[in-house]
Amino acid sequence: MFELDASIPAAKQCPICGQTGDRKFRKNHIWIRDCANCSHRFAELELGIDEVGQIYDGQYFQGDGLGYLDYLAEASLLRKKGQCYGKLLEGYCWPGTALDVGAAAGFILHGLMNYDWQSRGIEPNARIGRLGREKLRLNITPDTLETFPKSECYDLVMMIQVLSHFYDLEAALEVADRVTRPGGLWLIETWNRSSWTARLCGKRWRAYQPPTTQNWFSPCSLREIAEAYDFEEVGQGNATRWVSAPYLRSLLRYHGGFWSYPLEKLLAIIPNSWTMSWPVTDRFWAIYQKAENLD
Ligand SMILES: [Zn+2]
Repeated sequence: MFELDASIPAAKQCPICGQTGDRKFRKNHIWIRDCANCSHRFAELELGIDEVGQIYDGQYFQGDGLGYLDYLAEASLLRKKGQCYGKLLEGYCWPGTALDVGAAAGFILHGLMNYDWQSRGIEPNARIGRLGREKLRLNITPDTLETFPKSECYDLVMMIQVLSHFYDLEAALEVADRVTRPGGLWLIETWNRSSWTARLCGKRWRAYQPPTTQNWFSPCSLREIAEAYDFEEVGQGNATRWVSAPYLRSLLRYHGGFWSYPLEKLLAIIPNSWTMSWPVTDRFWAIYQKAENLD
């Protein structure tokens, strides 16, 4: 578990526009600010690559003690999510080359490849990335977007639930811009801080988890950020949540307490192939297209 080092400097400047902002509330002993200029919400925290390595160690992917079974259970759902985005992208472009940022073991990437995308992934956790390389034969390298070579070029940069986690948002977006070809796309899924769930929960909203999450967006604020990089929003909607029978069973096993055993027995009658999905209101996806001709 990552523990905040008191020597880590507190970032008081907005990572989008560089202006200062007001402190709104504290979460996990870290102040969260709203920029006075552009209203971007960010954590008062300045992490380096070493702290990022500690945050995304194996424990992050195993949650609070969840084991390998859970990871496998979620794998098919993540693959389905990748397929879902592959299908969605058919409405915007032909398949080409894609960079998946924060690819983990590559299950989403694997799903996207079913739609003929030639993809590679980067993942700061070397151990989880190796799982994708060895088990799924995917091209996943241990890297962060902030330190990724700007010389590469892709038709699509995919950032699924990673935008809130960048330790240097400005550097990450600059690289994302540089590695996207003119006319290429960003596909982003992230938390929606303007959703009714976020507003209702206030500081208890599940996405406020600094230092793991450090930046929070709304469809409107993200559109403005993309436009600053000459990307135009071409699509946007609520993200989809998927569950399957094995995933529900594994959740019950670890979080069900007294009712775990009887409920798990009851769920045993549901076939493993059963899945269910529905739109979630506090996460959104958006597709942005880079301008074709840049001066
Ligand atoms: Zn700002």
